Amino acid sequence: MRVAVLGTGIMGAPMARNLRAAGHEVRAWNRSREKAEPLAEDGIAVARSVAEAVDGADVAVTMLADAPAVEAVAAEALDALDGAVLAQMSTIGIDATAALAARAERAGVPFVDAPVSGTRQPAEQGQLLVLGSGPDEARERVEPVFDAVGSKTLWLGAAGAGQRLKLVLNAWLLGMTEALAEAIALAEALEVDPRRFLESIDGAPVGAPYAQLKGPMMIERDFPPAFPLALAAKDAGLALEAGQAAGLRLGALEAVREQMRRAVEAGHGGEDMAATIHASRPDR
Ligand code: NAP
Repeated sequence: MRVAVLGTGIMGAPMARNLRAAGHEVRAWNRSREKAEPLAEDGIAVARSVAEAVDGADVAVTMLADAPAVEAVAAEALDALDGAVLAQMSTIGIDATAALAARAERAGVPFVDAPVSGTRQPAEQGQLLVLGSGPDEARERVEPVFDAVGSKTLWLGAAGAGQRLKLVLNAWLLGMTEALAEAIALAEALEVDPRRFLESIDGAPVGAPYAQLKGPMMIERDFPPAFPLALAAKDAGLALEAGQAAGLRLGALEAVREQMRRAVEAGHGGEDMAATIHASRPDR
């Protein structure tokens, strides 16, 4: 199968590699071309333009930062796609997905909304959870792509259902991250060894494997990016807007977004989202 991968960041690059490893013919495009060039060593063709990447493709995947990036790139792709399915796998929220689905329909391109759960390491290992949604007739055509990048695909209904579940998952994940950051900042400020805190929740009903993964990063203030904080703040905003549009009052999520924004404004947007602890304790 011929697959175009548009966007080769933390997630898109390993997804392209896994597609190639599964035997697909892969063409990749990235706005900053130099970031995509190393993919050539793995037998992936690096395209000079979106149109060149999608030319002759069976499936075009978008894996880009946010809705404005997807809107810009997908517009170019839709003009050039001929008989292919557009599989939009970035997290862009409900409204942008509805607008893109309508645009794809006008262009006569089958559209699948398929954000993913999982981060850098699951992406490298082909172990993502794909939250697929879209028309049944497109499903068979994108399944070989999803099988190459993920260990499981949930099919959720009409396009947009994938984004909705993704926002729910991220509301949970971001809330957990912020609560962990604040507990560690509080421990430090009260002269409690934060490692003792992690030890005391380890394996307990109130614990989470995630706390043992991100907690040491927060204590060490060492944040190699798996999920960049700027994108986490974007997702907090998307989930919050979706909740507010549904009539909810999500006070904790609002606070999470503000804390993450503060840490981004302090210059930590490119670090892992665990760097949100800088919002609680900017002096360290
Ligand atoms: P990333 O490493 O920051 O990569 C972002 C990509 O978007 C890069 O290819 C970047 O191009 C491109 N881009 C940004 N603005 C653009 C624009 N205006 N026009 C064209 N391209 C643009 O992000 P990532 O971690 O791979 O995330 C990609 C998507 O997956 C996001 O929606 C994110 O929320 C979602 N996601 C991420 C994770 C994770 O753990 N990392 C997990 C699940 C879902 P340049 O290289 O030129 O900047």
